[in-house]
Amino acid sequence: MKNLIKKSKEIFDRLNIPELQKAGIEREDVKISSHSHHIVTYPPLSALPYIKPSKIYSPNSKKVLGEIALYLHLPFCTGKCLYCAYVSLVNQSEGFMDKYLDTVETEINLLLKSGKFNDTKLNTVYLGGGTPTCLSVGQLNRIFSLLQSKFTIKTDAEITVEASPETILAKDGKEKLKVLLKNNVNRLSMGFQTFNDDILKVLRRRYNSKQAIEAYKIAKRVGFENINIDLIPGLPDQTLEVWQKDLEKIGKLAPASVTCYPLSIKQTTAIYQLYQKERQRFPNREDVVLMHIMATEFFDKLGYSQKPVYWFTKELKYIYKQQISKWSELGRQLALGVSGYSFINDFQYFNYLTVSEYLEAINKSILPIYKGIKLSKVNLMRRLLVLGLKAGISKKLFISRFGKKPKDVFKDVWKKIKSLGLVEEDNEVIRLSYKGRPFCDEISKEFYSEKIRENLFR
Ligand code: SF4
Repeated sequence: MKNLIKKSKEIFDRLNIPELQKAGIEREDVKISSHSHHIVTYPPLSALPYIKPSKIYSPNSKKVLGEIALYLHLPFCTGKCLYCAYVSLVNQSEGFMDKYLDTVETEINLLLKSGKFNDTKLNTVYLGGGTPTCLSVGQLNRIFSLLQSKFTIKTDAEITVEASPETILAKDGKEKLKVLLKNNVNRLSMGFQTFNDDILKVLRRRYNSKQAIEAYKIAKRVGFENINIDLIPGLPDQTLEVWQKDLEKIGKLAPASVTCYPLSIKQTTAIYQLYQKERQRFPNREDVVLMHIMATEFFDKLGYSQKPVYWFTKELKYIYKQQISKWSELGRQLALGVSGYSFINDFQYFNYLTVSEYLEAINKSILPIYKGIKLSKVNLMRRLLVLGLKAGISKKLFISRFGKKPKDVFKDVWKKIKSLGLVEEDNEVIRLSYKGRPFCDEISKEFYSEKIRENLFR
């Protein structure tokens, strides 16, 4: 696309970003964070108290009725990427992975023993990590047999699996993809991050751009129609020109959807050291916002729509249902495995964050839940706004659930973000405006309670 950078800079100038900085809605150069990654839960993990699993799954607690989403964390990878803050172990033996799957099976049995999930159906399933396609063909088959035998999965369920280029290109890569298809997986999510080979090396990814494209083509040939590709704006050495090339290459592949989540740097990751030493190699905050605008303009021209904020989707049928339900509809999610986070019966809770703690809890026949809270009505409202704004919130849903409009409950915040032009609404939906989208996490934080802010920032 000609003049993409020039056009995006003009849009950037019109958005009056300094006005946001003055109002305290400000991005850091790159998101540096000791307490949380991008906002994916409310309250965030670091603000949650410790909790006993029996408080959530007591004999007296309510049954879970209706549909839920299932997430399974598989913490295995072929190498550790420079920026990775996920729980993932490198090159583990097949025996250890089997042991992990045995433990997941016990976790499911413990949950089902509580009797709370007898009347539920899974509307979406997500296998994430880690890299699920690191597991063997037999292990992938085992996971699906397990889920199918323990849960009722709706026939039209969205079933997503994360896959990496190097595992697809491996000797048994095609066979694994076929196993996924046979088990009704209908959405594949592949992390490419960039097509720039030098940056891929810096990131310690285990493929080059040619191989990534080849892996995508294999997945298409095997039969996957709905493929999401992740790109990351804000990487070291990534200029606006490099980003434009990334967009052009992805445009040629025309996947069903593209995720462009900006880089977030956790202090525990290797990329934090690089950032400390060579900050100048990272795009500054203006450029990261510009990259977002470039992506928005680029995909708009190709007919993609943006929902949720960092997802660009070619057609409505490819929209990422699990994320929309989780963020915009107060959808229940049951997460299995190490570091999984669940939202069940108004409890937001987390499983242990290390594999050893996770295994140890299950070995003692205890659910591996360690932090969580039951949300009060006002905190449920906050949660819906914090997460839901990224994908749009149905006014009808908010009023039917809480009996009030968001602007009547959070008057001051609403006035602030509305007057800055960060949100817009029609008769049905409240959503972030074009100007608000690159600042979605900063806007979300406006809805945090004082208590959570204190816990988080002290
Ligand atoms: S492939 Fe994903 S989960 Fe694995 S190390 Fe890299 S970023 Fe982390």
